[in-house]
Amino acid sequence: MTEHTRTDGLPALDPGQGPPVLERARPRNERMAAGKIECNACPVLCQISTGKSGACDRYANADGVLVRVDPVVLLDRAAALGDGAVVPFLVRPSGDTGGPEAASEDRGLFVTGVGASTTYPDYKPAPFVVASRADGVDMVTVVTEGIFSYCSFRVKIDTDRYLGPEQANVRCNGEVVGHVTTAEYGSQMLSLGGVHHLTGGSKKEGRVTCEMMASLGNKSAVELDIDGGTRVVVQAGRAPVVDGVEEARMRVGCGSATVGIFAKQFHGLADEVVVVDDHITGVLSQHQAGRCLDMRASGVRIRGRRSTPGRYFQVANPGTGWGGTDILDPMSIVEGWDAGTAWPGLRLLMVSTTGEHAEWFVLDDALVPRREPLPDAVARVVSRIGDNCEPSLCTVLFVGGAGGSLRAGVTENPVMLTRSIKASLVNVTCGGAPAYVWPGGGITVMVDVARMPDRSFGTVPTPAIVAPIEFSMRLDDYRALGGHMEVVRSLDDALARGAWHRDGAPTGRRIDATLPENPWPLGRAPLLG
Ligand code: SF4
Repeated sequence: MTEHTRTDGLPALDPGQGPPVLERARPRNERMAAGKIECNACPVLCQISTGKSGACDRYANADGVLVRVDPVVLLDRAAALGDGAVVPFLVRPSGDTGGPEAASEDRGLFVTGVGASTTYPDYKPAPFVVASRADGVDMVTVVTEGIFSYCSFRVKIDTDRYLGPEQANVRCNGEVVGHVTTAEYGSQMLSLGGVHHLTGGSKKEGRVTCEMMASLGNKSAVELDIDGGTRVVVQAGRAPVVDGVEEARMRVGCGSATVGIFAKQFHGLADEVVVVDDHITGVLSQHQAGRCLDMRASGVRIRGRRSTPGRYFQVANPGTGWGGTDILDPMSIVEGWDAGTAWPGLRLLMVSTTGEHAEWFVLDDALVPRREPLPDAVARVVSRIGDNCEPSLCTVLFVGGAGGSLRAGVTENPVMLTRSIKASLVNVTCGGAPAYVWPGGGITVMVDVARMPDRSFGTVPTPAIVAPIEFSMRLDDYRALGGHMEVVRSLDDALARGAWHRDGAPTGRRIDATLPENPWPLGRAPLLG
C-alpha cells in the first residue's frame, strides 16, 4: 500500500518547531487503493492516483508526493523586477526557520495567499506566517488560501438598460445562481453566488454556482439569464453585453441631472428639451434649471407621474430602448400640447441620458411635431452628453466571510483577530488587494477582483470558493493577539523554503508586479501611523 502522504509534511518538521496539536495526525486510510495518496488540504480528502490531480485541480500526486499545482504568487513593489516566472522553492533543513528575529529589512516583496494553500483542519496555523521589517518596524503577515462557504459577488453593471426586475432570479446554465438587487446611480446591480445557492439547493445548483463564481472572480466572462429580463454577459473590467449588444456608455446622469448639467448649453438652441430616462425624465422649460434661465413655457404634456416641476417618473416601461425605457419612438411619451401655450415653429429636442438617441422636432401650424434633421449646434451639445458618459463597465466585488474557523490559522484566540481588525491594527488584503472590512460583527471582507492577481480563485467540491487572504500587522500585535509565534518565519526563509508545512513537497513561486493602483499592504497607513 502506498504511504499516506500529507500536505502538512509533519514527518519532516522538528517536533519542537511545529504546533503540538499537529502531532495528532489522522491515521492511515487502510482502504485506500495502492498508488494513491490522500490530500488533506480540505474536507473532501481526495485520494489521488499517481499523475492525477485532486477534485479541485490544486493538488496532484507527483510520483507519490502530494504537490500544490499552482505557484505561490508574491508581489514585487519594484514592478520592474517582477517577471512572473515560476521559480522553485529550495528545500532547506527543517528547524532553520530564520525566525521572527531574523526578519530582513523591507525587500519590497509580499507573499500573497494565491497558491499559498490551506491547512485543514483549521486549528493548524496558516501555511505562511512571514516576518518582515517595514520602515524599521517588525511586521508579520499571515497568509492563507481561505475556503469560503459564505461568499458571494456583487456585480455592478454600468448601463441604463433594463436587465430585469428587481429580485428576479439570475440563472447560469439554467440554474438559479443569484438575483437582481437594488439599482444604483447609472448601474444595475446583481448579487451572485452565496451560501444559499452553493449548499442550500440541488447538487447541480451548487456546482454551477461554484463554477460561475470562480469564473467571475478569475475575470472570465459569464453568461447570465435574468428571469423576465435579458441575457447579459458579465466580465470584470469589461463592457457588459446585453442581449448580444455590447454596451458603450454609462449614462451621464438621470434625465433631471442631464437637464440641469446641459441647460445653459441648450438655452437659445432649443425651445424645449426632454431627456428621456427610465428613472426621472427631465423637461427643461418646467425644470428649475429652465426657470433660472427664464425659459418660456412650451406647453408640452408628458406621460407618467410628475414628481416635482420638470421631473417625471414612470414615463414608460423599463427596457432596452431610449434611456433604459422600452420606447423606440420618443414621441410616445408626449401626451400632447397646451394649445394656448405652445406655438408653431417651437423647436423640441428629445434626447436620451447617454446621447445615443436624439431627435429634433418642429411644431407645425397645427402644433403637430414634425421630425427634422438635428441642427449642427444642437448635435454638438448632444455629442457632449456622450463625451461626458463614462465607459460602461462590469465591476465584480468578492464578498467573503473570514470571521469563522479561518481565524484559527492566525491565532489561538480568534476573537482577538476580529477585534484587532476593527481596531485597525491589522490590514486585511486579498491577493495583495485592499479589502474593505464591513463594520459590525465578524470579518466580512469585500474586494475588487480586478485588483487581485489573475487566477486568484479556485473551488473545492464541498462546494465552496477558495480565495486568498492576508493579515498584516506589527509583530508585537501578533504576539499580543495570541498568534502562532512558533511558525513565524523570516521573509528570506519563506522565499527559500516555502510554507512551513511543505518541507519536501516540490512547488514553485511566481513574482508578479504589484498593481500600481493598490497601496502596498505593509504601507504606512494605518499600520505604521
Ligand atoms: S478538493 Fe483539492 S484540496 Fe480538497 S482534498 Fe481534494 S485535492 Fe485536496
